[in-house]
Amino acid sequence: MPPTKPAVALAPVPTVKPARIAPVLSSVQGKIQAARLAQAVPHLAAAYSHALARWAGDPVLRLLGLPIITECYRSPERQDELYTHGRTAPGPVVTYKRRGESNHNKLPAPALDVAFLLFDGSVSWSGLLLSKFARLMKAADARVHWGGDWPNFKDRPHFEVLV
Ligand SMILES: [Zn+2]
Repeated sequence: MPPTKPAVALAPVPTVKPARIAPVLSSVQGKIQAARLAQAVPHLAAAYSHALARWAGDPVLRLLGLPIITECYRSPERQDELYTHGRTAPGPVVTYKRRGESNHNKLPAPALDVAFLLFDGSVSWSGLLLSKFARLMKAADARVHWGGDWPNFKDRPHFEVLV
């Protein structure tokens, strides 16, 4: 008679999902965010703060990433540099505005750009996350315009208000 086969030990099925931690800013990152937010015109800053609070208070959204301001006020030199992208410099076109033409060039600025800090420390410009955040921004203040709604050049990280 062949020996009895040992029972195959089944690996236990995990019943708990891996812990997922909402990303948080370091103190330095927090200071940078506060400084950028302070460059915005008051009603844009208020709309952003309101949308951010709603995002951070949502049990699902907060795990997807943390909204961050990548840029608010933009110097004329930086605008010139961005304008070269996709023209005399490699990469895609990122702006159609020359120095002084962008709402980012005003101070206080009626425009800001948003991305998401992910829990692994990387930064995402996910169109899905930006569209979710745009809903909160527009709900916070009807004067907010989202670059993702523009008919031609979709600028999804971009939010601005009319002044
Ligand atoms: Zn922008």
